Amino acid sequence: MSSSVQLKIRKNIPLAPLTTFKIGGSAKFFIEVKTKSELKEAIAFAKKNKENIYIIGGGSNLLVNDSGVNGLVIKLSNNSVKISKNALSAGAGAKLADALKAAAEKGLAGLEWTAGIPRATIGGAVRGNAGAFGKSMDENVNNVEIYDLKKNKFIKLTRAECRFKYRESIFKEKEDYLIWEVKLELKKDLPEKIKNRIMDNLKLRKSTPGFPSAGSVFKNLSLAEIKKANPELAEKLIQTGVVKRGAVGAGLIIDKTLDLKGKTIGKAKISEEHGNFIVNTGGASADDVVTLISYIKQQARDNLGIELQEEIQYLGF
Ligand SMILES: Cc1cc2nc3c(=O)[nH]c(=O)nc-3n(C[C@H](O)[C@H](O)[C@H](O)COP(=O)(O)OP(=O)(O)OC[C@H]3O[C@@H](n4cnc5c(N)ncnc54)[C@H](O)[C@@H]3O)c2cc1C
Repeated sequence: MSSSVQLKIRKNIPLAPLTTFKIGGSAKFFIEVKTKSELKEAIAFAKKNKENIYIIGGGSNLLVNDSGVNGLVIKLSNNSVKISKNALSAGAGAKLADALKAAAEKGLAGLEWTAGIPRATIGGAVRGNAGAFGKSMDENVNNVEIYDLKKNKFIKLTRAECRFKYRESIFKEKEDYLIWEVKLELKKDLPEKIKNRIMDNLKLRKSTPGFPSAGSVFKNLSLAEIKKANPELAEKLIQTGVVKRGAVGAGLIIDKTLDLKGKTIGKAKISEEHGNFIVNTGGASADDVVTLISYIKQQARDNLGIELQEEIQYLGF
């Protein structure tokens, strides 16, 4: 009997509905995979047909090209969340929100900062080392099981091997590393205290813009880099008390210093609520967003000597 799984590869699947931005074209090929054997078969299909492989998680940090993605887009649906003592193991496709809920119910602390991040998966959050309120994903990672597309096998990386930095990891450097499962180490705490921290963080979270977005477009800036590029601006920011944990929010620079709030290109607009969010006001194209991003970067460069870097990830460009 053949052990091969029945592949459900589909053609020309619109990707916009799978993203929080609701922007972009279709995937030439698309598959959702739940098991390791399905993943291996999907990869074998792509390799046999010389198609590039792309991964999509919750689509909450993604801008998909208007002309779509020319290859096989794999959506990971391995979404189990298991808890044993202080360890939480989650499939890369598990929602951050489900991991937080499971942990909180068992009196395990560490993920409270994730409260209110919509649709994000564990895989996407580990790749981008997501974070908020001075906390980030790497603090709780014990190890990450990946599929190495070059070596064609599953391997485990320790936290140190993941080379986490602010919104960075080895997974952004190595496109052939596909995150499959993540083991987190959490700390015991009283469920009531965990619940209170979740509620506090939800209150602190700025009101989410009423239009589709992909979260923060740019990384925050370290005070050290602003000082180097523009000492005068650094001094002003220190004086106004907006430096937090040695960093300044990119939104603050865009909104207050560059005064770009509300700037619109096509149907893409810098959010009125949050200077670091670009919103799709209805029918925005990826091209509108890319042009607006370039405009913001140019304004920051020309007026402040500052180089903004995207946090948002591009698919199919
Ligand atoms: C309203 C809103 C608020 C947000 N708030 C925050 C916040 O507070 N902090 C924060 O850090 N982010 C925030 N985000 C951004 C986003 O939710 C996070 O970056 C999240 O971690 C992205 O996860 P995802 O599963 O949606 O990844 P996706 O957007 O689907 O993918 C992001 C990148 O990761 C890759 N990828 C996804 N899964 C895998 C995998 N298993 N293996 C390898 N590569 C993979 C994709 O190819 C892509 O390059 C916010 C977004 C929104 C819309």
